Amino acid sequence: MTGKRKNRCSFCGRSEDEVALMLTGLNGFICDECVRQAEHIVRENLGSKVNVKTGSTAGLDMDDIPKPRDIKAFLDQYVIGQDSAKRYLSVAVYNHYKRLSQKTDDGVEIEKSNIIMVGATGTGKTLLARTIAKLLKVPFTIVDATIFTEAGYVGEDVESILTRLLQVADYDVTATERGIVFIDEIDKIARKQDNPSITRDVSGEGVQQGLLKLLEGSIVNVPPKGGRKHPDQDYIHVDTRNILFICGGAFDGIERKIAQRLNTHVVGYDSVQNQQKIDTKDLMKYIVPQDLKSFGLIPEIIGRLPVLTYLNPLDRDALRKILTEPKNSLVKQQIKLFQMDGITLSFEEDALDFIVDKAIEYKLGARGLRSIMETIMIEAQFSAPSNGEKMLTITREYAEQQIKKSEKLK
Ligand code: ADP
Repeated sequence: MTGKRKNRCSFCGRSEDEVALMLTGLNGFICDECVRQAEHIVRENLGSKVNVKTGSTAGLDMDDIPKPRDIKAFLDQYVIGQDSAKRYLSVAVYNHYKRLSQKTDDGVEIEKSNIIMVGATGTGKTLLARTIAKLLKVPFTIVDATIFTEAGYVGEDVESILTRLLQVADYDVTATERGIVFIDEIDKIARKQDNPSITRDVSGEGVQQGLLKLLEGSIVNVPPKGGRKHPDQDYIHVDTRNILFICGGAFDGIERKIAQRLNTHVVGYDSVQNQQKIDTKDLMKYIVPQDLKSFGLIPEIIGRLPVLTYLNPLDRDALRKILTEPKNSLVKQQIKLFQMDGITLSFEEDALDFIVDKAIEYKLGARGLRSIMETIMIEAQFSAPSNGEKMLTITREYAEQQIKKSEKLK
């Protein structure tokens, strides 16, 4: 009996049943072992010129990499204000690229500088992270620190942060090891010092310890599908030394800690106002690592987040700009929605001022703008497409009416 002729690797000559996987090409075959060796040789020869996302040699040339100024200009198109945070982020990302492209034969090794951004909720931390992701040439993911719990409790292990990054990188470990992770709500894993419970602080210090391992740079066993680790699962080993971590958090109430440190007798903010040189409206800009410690981050974590920057609270002027200026501002989005029905939509200036007033009244910051806009526009979005009118102008009066109507319904 003559069996089917076995395919043989065109490089090493081994047959199909001697290898785990055989790939078929136009005129030949290659086994998994030779693929691995080939990759190794490519990397040895081309080093950091290999594009980490696609594995191709294009990309990551220093010439192709946007300079900090370019990165900031890009962020400016989407995010209003927050200059300090934008600058820090731009430099951090640029340095990240530099580190990935560096040659270490001169003995100088550029170490990574993870970042922590502090700013009230709704001031644009996540928006900054999402926007920067658009121009990154490395794998990027956003994770929320609140889903993590200490090993042994219900929730996800911190290692699953890397699972997400692996997924984004199509399980290419080398690419993953050069990625950037944005960890949101890092303040939620602060140690709760006043916790009266004698049970362990499930979401606090234990998670910080777990996170520390990732931030420090070590080989981490990552469950490929995320979630909890199981003893019988195969892990993927990921070296986190070159992964850049950007953390963000609101750190509610940290202004008090800052004020205290600034040596003021604080009950509310009023007493700080007596101090002439201190800008009491924006204490955040005085933030130093020590304040994070007072808030409950362990010193080791703080040490691994050497770049500390802040976001300003959004004032009336900023909120007003957010409505119209960003590339995909709420107003532009509404106009586009109506345009698709052949309707020209416009907003009177007063109407926009009114939306800002309401957002301030509701104390929802920029996040409130969207829901207020939706409330004002729902009626028009419902009826305009069928009533045949080609022009629609939103006046302050109309906006007020719509908000009143919705308040009555509540
Ligand atoms: P944070 O992460 O700081 O809590 P987000 O970035 O999620 O806040 O902001 C919520 C929403 O508010 C964003 O989707 C965006 O529409 C808007 N926003 C917040 N800050 C800004 C800003 N500085 N510029 C433009 N839009 C902003």
